[in-house]
Amino acid sequence: MMETEILIIGGGIAGASTAYHLAQHGRHVTLLERGDLASEASGVNAGAIGAIGWGHVPNLESSLTMGSLEIFKSLQVELGYDIEFRRSGSLQAIQTEAEYVYTQRRVLELRSQGYTVDLLSSEEAQMIEPALSPALLGCVYMPLRAQADPTKATLAFASAAERNGAHMLLHQEVTGIQSEGDGSYRVEASQGSYQAATLVIAAGAWCGGIGAMLGLRIPIVPVRGQMWASAPQPPRLFHTISAAESSLYWHTAPGHETQSPPYLTHRGHQRLTRHLYGRQTRTGEIMFGGDRQLVDYQKSPDAAGIEVNHGHAAEVLPFLRELPVARTWAGLMPFPLDGAPIIGKIAQHPHLYIVSGLASSGFGRGPMAGKLLAEYIHTGHRPHVLAEADPARCVTPVA
Ligand SMILES: Cc1cc2nc3c(=O)[nH]c(=O)nc-3n(C[C@H](O)[C@H](O)[C@H](O)COP(=O)(O)OP(=O)(O)OC[C@H]3O[C@@H](n4cnc5c(N)ncnc54)[C@H](O)[C@@H]3O)c2cc1C
Repeated sequence: MMETEILIIGGGIAGASTAYHLAQHGRHVTLLERGDLASEASGVNAGAIGAIGWGHVPNLESSLTMGSLEIFKSLQVELGYDIEFRRSGSLQAIQTEAEYVYTQRRVLELRSQGYTVDLLSSEEAQMIEPALSPALLGCVYMPLRAQADPTKATLAFASAAERNGAHMLLHQEVTGIQSEGDGSYRVEASQGSYQAATLVIAAGAWCGGIGAMLGLRIPIVPVRGQMWASAPQPPRLFHTISAAESSLYWHTAPGHETQSPPYLTHRGHQRLTRHLYGRQTRTGEIMFGGDRQLVDYQKSPDAAGIEVNHGHAAEVLPFLRELPVARTWAGLMPFPLDGAPIIGKIAQHPHLYIVSGLASSGFGRGPMAGKLLAEYIHTGHRPHVLAEADPARCVTPVA
């Protein structure tokens, strides 16, 4: 039986960042990962980093996004990891009158709250992203947004954690957890047993199963996200690109139901809206995706959805019409049923924490989520922004 002070379950960006920041505080950390590091959502995402500023009154969302932006930057610039980070900025395409009216109001509202967003005419947008369709009615410009390689970034967090003394144990699937009488945990994994004083659940879309081992219901469900990529192209796209259609749809119909999280593109197999985001990677691949569908733990992409997404991308960037899809893939995002992240202490057991529920933007929010949770564990005081993410609102004993 191996003893450790803090045991983290899950080697995605949430777990790796938590390990890094705890190790930086001098804590003894062991991370157990079922497969390889970044082998699930954290390795297959689009690498888009969302950030529009701290705002006049920083809240959970602005702290997670802006804090993560700073951490990504320091990984590359100060610690020297090449994670392909660049502050590219982002353009959101406006295709209809209704989208224009909605985005104009939204941009004004965000600017009045201190965020960095702008509304560009179609001509202004084309000057900084020449491949955009002239048929667009304009674009929302978010200059702080950035991009990085998801696998390289997650591996960099794990490597930085190891440099600070953390242990990353791979191919160790957690199969059972016992809460001991002295407040510690005995964790059974595929290649050994562990004793830990503190336990952190960072298992992404699989948090529900880990919670069940402790008699808890953690309301996080797997939502399939899928993407496609072209063969490598010469440099063509400079920003991350998205479209306003889904923002408008979710503004009017977020679609929150008891057993289904908000902000999905489908109800069952019926499409509700088209969501779109993508970028060109350093290798030259142009990648796009957007569908968010509840299909249990099914991870193969749906060809019809890829075709719709490719068609939507070509409406925004007409050169994509001639560019065939070279490969497709999918992954599972940890969607909380009420739509808000779950980061903090789980009250039902001593020294039990969770960092998850980061949904469709966990790559851009995971680094700061891990840093805030590490601060909470290390100091014993909850950073005030984590009040909004308190597990007490939704984690309950299994009935
Ligand atoms: C196609 C797609 C595109 C996306 N695009 C973006 C984007 O552009 N920008 C953005 O910000 N976000 C994006 N996301 C969302 C983002 O990838 C996730 O929110 C984020 O990676 C979640 O990180 P995580 O560490 O919580 O979970 P994961 O990366 O899933 O990590 C959880 C880890 O826990 C491990 N685990 C599970 N059960 C056990 C067990 N029993 N024992 C041991 N280990 C276990 C898993 O193997 C896994 O490695 C996208 C997601 C997908 C699928």
